[in-house]
Amino acid sequence: MKDRDGDRRLGRRALVLGGAAAAVGTAVLARQELAHVWWRLPGVEKPRVKGAVDFPGARWLAASPANLRRADRPDDYGIDRVIVHVTQGGYSSAVKAFQDPGHGAAAHYIVRRDGRVTQMIRELDVAFHAGNREYNERSVGIEHEGFVERASSFTDAMYAASARLTAAVCGRYGIPVDREHIIGHAQVPGTDHTDPGPHWDWERYMRLARRERAARTR
Ligand SMILES: [Zn+2]
Repeated sequence: MKDRDGDRRLGRRALVLGGAAAAVGTAVLARQELAHVWWRLPGVEKPRVKGAVDFPGARWLAASPANLRRADRPDDYGIDRVIVHVTQGGYSSAVKAFQDPGHGAAAHYIVRRDGRVTQMIRELDVAFHAGNREYNERSVGIEHEGFVERASSFTDAMYAASARLTAAVCGRYGIPVDREHIIGHAQVPGTDHTDPGPHWDWERYMRLARRERAARTR
């Protein structure tokens, strides 16, 4: 609901935005359009709420700021990839590593064996997870608790939760749910990582993700 306060805020933005609005060349901009223009101005970041998550139901645990680059995606960098990882360890050790400023890497999300999702980096920000600057900037990274060489790492609950998460990310940024856009770490150019490995069931994962995506657009 738009209250008076909201209108006042919008008024102030409209003042600041006089130039930008004129550049768009419309006398009267729709409210949504104006808001859109506002967020696209260089140096203007979207507001952040402490502890907020991008995936409803996710638990928030902040990664060390040393393992990410603060950004304003998708306005400064477009997002067109989801990258699937496996932690090569337990959930707690992954959390600890991502909170360690000396680790040098962290992903946006960790999906546990029981299907619980933890978000450690906002999707706005560039997480250091792909080992490739361009792929870090254009992707959302999802870690899965377990080991590449252990087929039993990948549970039904994990596949289901991760597919929901991937479908939500794809919906948010208009990413096609296919294997060109949803890739494993091993497919990132220049990487020597093998995750998620041969036991990760891509066919099943993509089927679940497509189903979740379809359910969201209905
Ligand atoms: Zn990886």
